[in-house]
Amino acid sequence: DSATWQRARQLFGAARRITALTGAGVSTASGIPDFRGPDGLWTRNPQAARLSDIDSYLADEDVRVHAWRARAENPAWHAEPNAAHRAFVDLDAAGRLGALLTQNIDELHQRAGLARDRVLELHGTMRRTVCVHCGATGAMTEALQRVADGEPDPDCRACGGILKSATVFFGQALDTEVLREARRACLDCDLFVAAGTSLTVHPAAGFAELAARAGAKLIICNAEPTPYDEIADAVLRGPLTEVLPDLASAPLIDSDEP
Ligand code: NAD
Repeated sequence: DSATWQRARQLFGAARRITALTGAGVSTASGIPDFRGPDGLWTRNPQAARLSDIDSYLADEDVRVHAWRARAENPAWHAEPNAAHRAFVDLDAAGRLGALLTQNIDELHQRAGLARDRVLELHGTMRRTVCVHCGATGAMTEALQRVADGEPDPDCRACGGILKSATVFFGQALDTEVLREARRACLDCDLFVAAGTSLTVHPAAGFAELAARAGAKLIICNAEPTPYDEIADAVLRGPLTEVLPDLASAPLIDSDEP
């Protein structure tokens, strides 16, 4: 309703140091389906989650072959950033974005023009590979070329180990340095904005609460309810390609105003 909308714009206008957390919902308008939304990959095919489970991936060659095929077919390879991604670039240009924490692995925030050091990729990136044995990394496009050339499950060139995308699988821990910086960004902001995330994957989901407890205002922008809506100062359900540019263009107001 319009009261919520006005309140959100006020909170935004008063904020000087914003930490944002984004999820798959900011990229759906770019043609990349989310996982748990109504049209989500896992909503339509719950089995697909197995491809991102580290134990299944290591134990079962069929899972890996399937995963390589899915990587090659990921619509993210042909996706362009949208107005939601650009809204964060504008905020950053205005010097108001402390950090952008993202669960997305598509790099569309960076492609929209956000500096790499502004983006904390909580779940890694689909554009790189990593060997689970020696840790060697490489370009995903090279590995996918090997798949196209007839290797259904390409191994690590350095040690022969199992290769995966440089993303955090279920059963894997997040990078400790990235986590540390993300926590710091939550404690060091006056407004925390969660956008396009169902806030169900931990530890990322807990960041909203961490920031709110530390005194930041909390705005949640998501089409569906999240477990943290109750503690939010404003919840906006509209499409992110409209909601985020609108918020980012809210007039700056003196934070001492009522
Ligand atoms: P999620 O699928 O759990 O939730 C996405 C939420 O966004 C849903 O609640 C949905 O209602 C909402 N949403 C979708 N489109 C929207 C729009 N246009 N406007 C407003 N709301 C919209 O996603 P999550 O919380 O990010 O967790 C999923 C996990 O999957 C993450 O770990 C992420 O790494 C990964 N993932 C990444 C991508 C990507 O990189 N683009 C895509 C799918 C999944």
